[in-house]
Amino acid sequence: MITDTPAPRAILHEVFGYEQFRGPQAAIVDHVIGGGDALVLMPTGGGKSLCYQIPAIARQRAGHGVAIVVSPLIALMHDQVGALHEAGVDAAFLNSTLSGEEANAVEKRMLSGEVTLLYAAPERVTTPRFLAQLDSLQERGLLSLFAIDEAHCVSQWGHDFRPEYRALTVLHERFAGVPRIALTATADAITREDIVERLQLEEAQQFVSSFDRPNISYTIVEKKEATTQLLRFIEREHEGEAGIVYCQSRKRVEEIAQTLVNEGVSALPYHAGLDAQVRQANQDRFLREDGIVMVATIAFGMGIDKPDVRFVAHLDMPKNIEGYYQETGRAGRDGMPAAAWMAYGLQDVVNQRRMIDESPAGEDYKQVMRGKLDALLTLAEAADCRRVRLLGYFGEASTPCGNCDNCLTPPTVWDGTDAARKLLSTIYRVQQQSGISFGAGHIMDILRGKATEKVSQFGHQSLTTFGIGAAFSEVQLRGVLRQLIATGALAVDAQAFNTLKLTEASRGVLKGETQVLLRESVSLPPERRGRTGSRSGATPSAVAASLTTEGVARYAALKAWRAEVARAHNLPAYVIFHDATLAAIAAMAPQTLADLRDISGIGASKLEKYGEEVLRVVLLD
Ligand code: ADP
Ligand code: ZN
Repeated sequence: MITDTPAPRAILHEVFGYEQFRGPQAAIVDHVIGGGDALVLMPTGGGKSLCYQIPAIARQRAGHGVAIVVSPLIALMHDQVGALHEAGVDAAFLNSTLSGEEANAVEKRMLSGEVTLLYAAPERVTTPRFLAQLDSLQERGLLSLFAIDEAHCVSQWGHDFRPEYRALTVLHERFAGVPRIALTATADAITREDIVERLQLEEAQQFVSSFDRPNISYTIVEKKEATTQLLRFIEREHEGEAGIVYCQSRKRVEEIAQTLVNEGVSALPYHAGLDAQVRQANQDRFLREDGIVMVATIAFGMGIDKPDVRFVAHLDMPKNIEGYYQETGRAGRDGMPAAAWMAYGLQDVVNQRRMIDESPAGEDYKQVMRGKLDALLTLAEAADCRRVRLLGYFGEASTPCGNCDNCLTPPTVWDGTDAARKLLSTIYRVQQQSGISFGAGHIMDILRGKATEKVSQFGHQSLTTFGIGAAFSEVQLRGVLRQLIATGALAVDAQAFNTLKLTEASRGVLKGETQVLLRESVSLPPERRGRTGSRSGATPSAVAASLTTEGVARYAALKAWRAEVARAHNLPAYVIFHDATLAAIAAMAPQTLADLRDISGIGASKLEKYGEEVLRVVLLD
């Protein structure tokens, strides 16, 4: 029976315990409840889930049946569905972790139209069997909407291309009248166009939120001793807190995780080469325990919605800004202060360029990838506000943020134009004289006038540029080299022992037309003296910072209670209640259920399930 659609705000309050919609949520929810298609671009932590969950609940209550949620990661469906159950919503998933019997039971409930949200991966949704079941639902008016999560997976320009997503065009073709909402946290202009085209969303209304994540502070440091730099960053700023450290290779993941463990950090490795069970166990621990640092390749992270990740560190540079922004976006979903930290050096530039050059892709594709890499390199070399540049990349204008390294400690900039000209002309002359190219080390030796064996072997001390760069330090020249390579004014030939070659763009620099401005290199911060032995709870968490002594005690008691409940339900703690909700309870010291009802994050279902227990925990101390 079709009834009036209930008011979305009533659902927001009753089911999720939230007072107000955030940003464009209200408009999106109204549009989808009304049957419209939508493309939602909202940063991580912006609140995308509610954009389809509330329409699904509203449409189910009005008699429209089941919403199908297409989600790429089987491993995370369990927690997502668990969170909905906690809120009292009838949700289910269909994937290979279910036994045949369990899957049959879910299918039966789905076909009866009683499930509100059904999660499945794209490869399942597009099977003939599943499509036939959807036909049956639609014939009876019980197919309420499609939500396509992580929609950028459909695009080869995105950073998580999944060919299975391409087959999702069938949804539009076969179920034309059913509203579709596609969501992603990251898409630059070219990826966005691709999503629209691939998913046939030309008619969909686009809802583009600001991509700014003001609570994340961005820092990019020059890579020196990367591991030491990372350790100091964690020790100084994030002791005992949850974080993710991204590395390029599996081997490096293993090494760094071990080093961190040796230094007393609770770190775990995660990469595609690990045994599936170990990988799953490590992910579970990261989600369920407090203060774990996950050292991982990019295989880790999509769909990780742990809200209290306090930092994301990159020990190696990602491929492009989209990847960087998506990965750093996993920090601070709860809106509390969080950090994005990256160490970047010459080797990163060389590696990333080489990977593009050596990839089997066509030249057009490589050209796009080079352009994207260049944008990231420019960000890394920048001496002005990182956030302005990041947002600029996504087409958003802004003013200096006051919460990035360059805003907080403006770097000293030196004019490297002269050094760059001398470097390039040395490369030119060496090539002229010897007919072959050389690597960075030899070129710098000539510039700085070092009479090495190689220099005399090739007679390079007779070059007019021999020794003309003696005034520059090696660190300075390396900086110049890195920036020349980063901006394409110099190329590294990976096929020929990483030798240096001039490019079209070298000319402008050689002629003095292109100015080369560089950040002054900063030395490593000194090691912290008197390192504390204990890492447990040394720093009070940002969430609990404003509590009184009794409040802190209540907060601790509530956390212990939550950990027990989470374990009993086999769910991450934040699915039961967020830290912020526990802190609000601790601060208020509620006496009655009615007091509890007003706290953000406590909906009707949780109030009924946990209200009495929470009151008891709070009153005990
Ligand atoms: P995204 O998928 O966009 O990264 P989520 O849907 O996971 O973000 O939401 C991020 C967090 O914000 C979640 O913990 C969610 O419960 C919370 N949230 C979303 N919308 C609201 C709201 N209107 N009021 C309060 N909290 C909200
Ligand atoms: Zn800034």
